[in-house]
Amino acid sequence: MDLSKLNKILKGEPPYRQQQVNQAVFIDLVTDWDEVKTLPQKLRKVLQDNCPLEINADIFHSQDKKTSKALITLEDGNKIETVLMQHEGERHTVCVSSQVGCSLACTFCATGRLGLKRNLTADEIVEQVLLWNRVLKQLGAKDRVTNVVYMGMGEPFLNYTAVLKSIRLLNDKQGFNIGARKISVSTSGIAPKIKKFAEEKMQINLALSLHAPNDELRSKLMPINTHFPLSEVMKAVDFYIEKTNRKVMCEYLMIAEVNDSLEQAEELAKLLQGKLVMVNLIAYNPTNAYRPAKSKNIKAFKDYLTKQGLEVSQRFTFGQDIKAACGQLALEN
Ligand code: SF4
Repeated sequence: MDLSKLNKILKGEPPYRQQQVNQAVFIDLVTDWDEVKTLPQKLRKVLQDNCPLEINADIFHSQDKKTSKALITLEDGNKIETVLMQHEGERHTVCVSSQVGCSLACTFCATGRLGLKRNLTADEIVEQVLLWNRVLKQLGAKDRVTNVVYMGMGEPFLNYTAVLKSIRLLNDKQGFNIGARKISVSTSGIAPKIKKFAEEKMQINLALSLHAPNDELRSKLMPINTHFPLSEVMKAVDFYIEKTNRKVMCEYLMIAEVNDSLEQAEELAKLLQGKLVMVNLIAYNPTNAYRPAKSKNIKAFKDYLTKQGLEVSQRFTFGQDIKAACGQLALEN
């Protein structure tokens, strides 16, 4: 499926055709143009021949059925992964990929080992959400995708234009109508793009993959830190907060004997003191390179940060049995 072809096909058609197509594709979630009886048969045939609605995907469900992973084969044969997490209370969060592979080679991340193949287009990002909406419809779920996080394969800010365009499409009232506040973009710390993002005047959430409290360790875990050291990244975060007055989520993977000591908690508290941030401690999912921190160490780390007045949450792992957890995408493909 290649949604970008739609605009070309609909050029020259009256404007209400676009609305009919949007209704069919994004709201009614049709998978065959023949079902769209509001369109003339001739146009349906052109659409069927030039823009079939099939998404080529293999879908895997975790044993507890709460997490699903899809391996999508794109038109050019490249493959990407996307994840659906179904939470209590009909909240459905989709984690989307923004690139095929990733150039940043974070040492704890399976995607990073692939290298970058190419950027995704805005339509290819939106198609990931479309796929999950179709799955939810098939499963008989009451609601559709409610939240989207850009935390899958790739660094979103290295594909900035397409990512922003995809956010606008997801946000579009005539399409999925997902509120900006329900969309989060996670970056490894591309400082100039954090500043640019601050100027976008959209209410999208920003998450920063921090994972270390100092440059020495962070550069070992995330080589991008040698280009944008912590001082520069934190300045960009300050700028973002000043401009938007929005809280930034700092993500911190808890890796045994690497970044989980009390000294490191102390350093982290100093780094973040006084900033409008929240720390999210994430249980590490093994990808061969490291081991997860022990729960008693995570607790001590969390307690220390909380005592220092920081807001801290803890994300438990899910989808590990289908390799859909953080840092595991692309491990088997
Ligand atoms: S953690 Fe994110 S930025 Fe780092 S290599 Fe993996 S996908 Fe790329």
